[in-house]
Amino acid sequence: MVRKIVRYPEPVLRAKCRPVTEVTPEIRTLADDMLETMREANGVGLAAPQVAVDVQLAVIDVSHNPDCITFMKIDGENVDMMKNMPVVFLNPKLELGSAKEIGEEGCLSFPRLRGDIRRSSQIKVTYTDLEGKTVTVETDGLLARAFQHEIDHLNGILFIDRLNAVAKVGMKRKLARLMQEWEDDD
Ligand SMILES: [Zn+2]
Repeated sequence: MVRKIVRYPEPVLRAKCRPVTEVTPEIRTLADDMLETMREANGVGLAAPQVAVDVQLAVIDVSHNPDCITFMKIDGENVDMMKNMPVVFLNPKLELGSAKEIGEEGCLSFPRLRGDIRRSSQIKVTYTDLEGKTVTVETDGLLARAFQHEIDHLNGILFIDRLNAVAKVGMKRKLARLMQEWEDDD
C-alpha cells in the first residue's frame, strides 16, 4: 500500500526514532509499504518518519544507476550492487570515512527542493535486516550518500540542516515559497 509522505515541517520529521526490538508483521508491512511508496515517488530512499512512523527503519534503492558506486561489500565480501537492491535496514550504526565530497540531494519530504550537501564519500554501516540478521555494508558514491541521508532522518536531521551557512540563507526564502506551493498541491 502506498502511504502518504509527510512534508516539512511536519513534527515527526524531527523525531529521534525508536529502535525496532522485534521484526513483527507490522514492521514487515511497513517495509513493504515504504518500498512501494518510494517507487511510486521515484525516490532513491525513504525513512519511516517520512510516512509518519518514528521507528528506525529505512529503505534505499539506487539500481536506476548501475554506475553510481565503485564498490559494495556485504560482511567484507565484494558483491554486485544491482543484485542487492533494494536495501531495507533497521537500527543502523554508521561509520563515516574521513574523505568528503559535495553532491546534490533532494528529499521526498521537500518536493522540488535541491541542495548541495557535503558528506563522507565512503561509509560503513551495520544494521539489522528483516530476517533479524546483523549485516555490515561498505560502499561509496550515491549509495553511501543515500545511507547518510536516510540515517539522518532516523535521528530527526534533515538535509537542509547540512547546507553550508551561505546556502542556508538563500534556502530560507526558497523554502517559504515552496511550503506555500506544497499546500496548494493538496
Ligand atoms: Zn529525505
